[in-house]
Amino acid sequence: MGSGGDIVNALRSYQKKCVTEVGQQFRLGHRAVLMVAPTGAGKTVMFSHMADTFRSRGKRVLIVAHRKELIKQASSKLRAAGIQHGIIAPWAEQVPELVQVGSVQTLRGRLGRLPRFDLIVIDEAHHSVAGDWARLIASQPQSLICGVTASPQRMDGKALGVSEGGVFETMVLGPTIAELIDLGFLTPSKVFAPSIPDMIGIRTRKGDFDTTQLAKLMAKPECIGNVVEHYQRHASGLPTICFCPSVEVAEGYAAAFRAAGYRSVAAHGEMEADDRSEALSGLETGAVQIVTACDLISEGVDVPCVACVILCRPTKSLGLHIQQVGRGLRPMEGKTCLIILDFSGNTLRFGLPDTDHGWSLDAPANDTKRRASSRGWLCECGVVHAARAGSCAECGRERPAVSGRKEKDELQPVGLEEFDKTKERAWREMAYGDLIKVAKTEEDLRDIAKARGYKTGWVSKAMKEIAA
Ligand SMILES: [Zn+2]
Repeated sequence: MGSGGDIVNALRSYQKKCVTEVGQQFRLGHRAVLMVAPTGAGKTVMFSHMADTFRSRGKRVLIVAHRKELIKQASSKLRAAGIQHGIIAPWAEQVPELVQVGSVQTLRGRLGRLPRFDLIVIDEAHHSVAGDWARLIASQPQSLICGVTASPQRMDGKALGVSEGGVFETMVLGPTIAELIDLGFLTPSKVFAPSIPDMIGIRTRKGDFDTTQLAKLMAKPECIGNVVEHYQRHASGLPTICFCPSVEVAEGYAAAFRAAGYRSVAAHGEMEADDRSEALSGLETGAVQIVTACDLISEGVDVPCVACVILCRPTKSLGLHIQQVGRGLRPMEGKTCLIILDFSGNTLRFGLPDTDHGWSLDAPANDTKRRASSRGWLCECGVVHAARAGSCAECGRERPAVSGRKEKDELQPVGLEEFDKTKERAWREMAYGDLIKVAKTEEDLRDIAKARGYKTGWVSKAMKEIAA
């Protein structure tokens, strides 16, 4: 079995820095530290190193995964790093190792019987909301806690800091996706947004678009035809995952791809696990070109050969968006660029894969202000660019300005006719504080008053506010 020294030597320099910073935060007196690092940063390697450091001092470490399926993955990575460990699961025999791996579901029933751990590592820590997690943490009051995640926000958009009801007191930021691309640990990407779905009238449930309505929207024949056509044009034959809002939509898309002559299968939660993994391994062998997926390919699924990701599942969750595009960012020999075909509006809503989201432990992820500065813009040629890009790298067109608005106005992704339709809705739904910051002209204010049903007197009152 390897020693701590071997693992330290194997760490990349940013990994060493990250692990050192987490240790510093503990020494500063914080009990719970959140480490944020994107897909491809090597989160498992980093927490394995921490576990090994604790173990080498005779201390106990518990590594918690949020799903049973992720236990085996964590275990095999620990084994690869040479770290002896036990597994706490109904199917595993208990071994008295200092490092233990378990799922929150299994641990739930054993809280009173667990040894006292010195460090608890929470993998995919954005799931660590109340309930089972809170009970586990409360049952181990002596333990330090290190959460690990690629997107430090819960699916309901809340932040993970103590002030928002989470457990984490402080955060250590690992490398950004842009840095990992520069270092060659992730693949750059090119995003096409051939169409944007009309979300007017789509309800929000539990913080995200209503999936029943989404399924109807994305199952329209013209939408399916458009997806197949653009796949043919931009990514024909490349190993692809297509994210869909429902099982039926996934089946429908797979059938449409097959009808166009491609090898395509649907993969979803209602299938046998073996069939799902067969579909994914088919991408690697070439037996399958396009896996159309519903709800199951998120964290923990690594298929580096994926060279195209098709987004057909509009979402309000930045975390889900990051997970979806992240499935294609792993580098592989011969893969120079990930193609993203976005039919969901998600990259315009949240930004490109390498967008810096300015993570915060306290600010909710759905913070409109923060998000506006990271959103992409769509060129006439169909390519989506980062907010900072002044012109299109594909066709050379300048970033268009919208008439009557200043260049800096980032309420709307500019140059985007389709988004004008949603303008009224944006005025209607935006937080009042943001409205006043974003509105520039009297005309804006009149539009706002109309959208929100304010009386005419409001416009002159608000004019003074925006002038202030
Ligand atoms: Zn262009």
